Amino acid sequence: MEFDYDLFVIGAGSGGVRASRISSSLGAKVAIAEEFRVGGTCVIRGCVPKKLLVYASHFSEDFEDAAAYGWTVGETSHSWEKLIANKDKEIDRLNRIYHTILDNNNVELYQGRATLVDRNTVRVGDKEITAKYILIATGGAPVMPDVPGIEHAISSNEALHLEEFPTRVIVVGGGYIAVEFAGIFNGLGAEVTQLYRSTQILRGFDADVQNFLASEIQKKGINLRTHSNPAKIEKTESGLKVTLEDGDVLETDAIMYATGRRPNTAGLGLEDIGVELKDNGAVKVAPDSQTTVDNIYAVGDVTDRIALTPVAIHEGMAFAETVFGGRPRAMDHENVPSAVFSQPQVGTVGLTEEEAREIYGKVDIYKSEFRPMKQTLTGGTEKAFVKLIVSQESDIVVGAHIVGGDAAEIIQAVGIALKCKATKAQFDATVGVHPSLAEEIVTMREKFVAS
Ligand code: NDP
Repeated sequence: MEFDYDLFVIGAGSGGVRASRISSSLGAKVAIAEEFRVGGTCVIRGCVPKKLLVYASHFSEDFEDAAAYGWTVGETSHSWEKLIANKDKEIDRLNRIYHTILDNNNVELYQGRATLVDRNTVRVGDKEITAKYILIATGGAPVMPDVPGIEHAISSNEALHLEEFPTRVIVVGGGYIAVEFAGIFNGLGAEVTQLYRSTQILRGFDADVQNFLASEIQKKGINLRTHSNPAKIEKTESGLKVTLEDGDVLETDAIMYATGRRPNTAGLGLEDIGVELKDNGAVKVAPDSQTTVDNIYAVGDVTDRIALTPVAIHEGMAFAETVFGGRPRAMDHENVPSAVFSQPQVGTVGLTEEEAREIYGKVDIYKSEFRPMKQTLTGGTEKAFVKLIVSQESDIVVGAHIVGGDAAEIIQAVGIALKCKATKAQFDATVGVHPSLAEEIVTMREKFVAS
């Protein structure tokens, strides 16, 4: 049977664009549909704009530190409008680059929402298009819980476009997005309260990292309240009134929810054609990203494996090589490094101590908590933390965790070592770079013994 295309991709985010580009380079005739802006969550309303805002928010601390290093910094002020305008300009530039990538790789773009008609047919607007293979790469979107007055709240999407900078902000949640945005607003001068419903933020991270970061962000001025959750939100003349479940009432200018993201599968017509979904709406996939319909694949956040851009990109490349390159392979989801762009940053790869004990039984722990050198002149109280988890039986380092400046940059390289199954002896044989925070990774010799 003749099809219009070899591959039709739904969703032009990180995973979809990479899969379409590689498939095309392997000889496939490819089209892609996007209902919003080409680039997807990471480029348009996620990693990229977020990191630009993180850079912006860090200056307040840098200006303060500068004095101890002999600088006289004049009066400083910040223009949120200018930051947002400059950030938008950069996002527009990246959006154009993504269009160029599609053009240069002969990937035809259909601007509009695509839905599935049958296992080989997609509808975009009034057009029906056929393809031998279909790739679902529709990503995810913020979940806003059902709280009275939730219509007054924003998600990270709106936080990136606020017309006015809020001087008082409540951030709800304790995951990646919540801690990152709490840090952004705090650094830019807002009075920030972060509400987390359970015991400690960053659930799923190593417990030492959770506790260390919680203490660091509080030192920086974030009012972190655990076991706290809004019960209702009301608009008042001066802003918003937020009543917590424990009856406390807070006044704020903005309330941002970062309470998780949901895979974008609603209304695509997936189940009608036999593509099975998980209970949370994510597309069920085999390790090679094939769905329960054999010519339909899915990559990225919509599959709810690991919701990170570089993971979606790897999955997209593995898909293209499997289907069009004659090199079947599944992405390896083990030891994926990641960073939280909180202030200070968190970098993590491999297992938490708890997970390692469960899998390996006996583990050795190395940890170090110290004052970064930069703080020696400023008198600042910020601390850094490094932790390694080693399987006693094999001496292999199975987890590495860093909290501190540049943790994201450092963990990238440590990730290679874990991928290579490096042993603690090999870490020890590596000479440190002095003076640096990273040298701690290769200089810790004393096993941690719980007192
Ligand atoms: P997460 O799932 O990481 O965190 C959600 C948070 O909201 C948790 O603290 C959760 O609490 C809390 N929560 C969930 N539901 C409710 C509710 N109804 N009421 C109150 N609190 C609630 O989601 P995020 O939105 O922060 O991020 C989504 C994903 O995006 C991340 O998991 C990550 O993979 C990716 N991401 C990665 C980044 C990076 O690499 N730097 C940056 C941003 C996002 P509890 O712990 O109790 O469940």
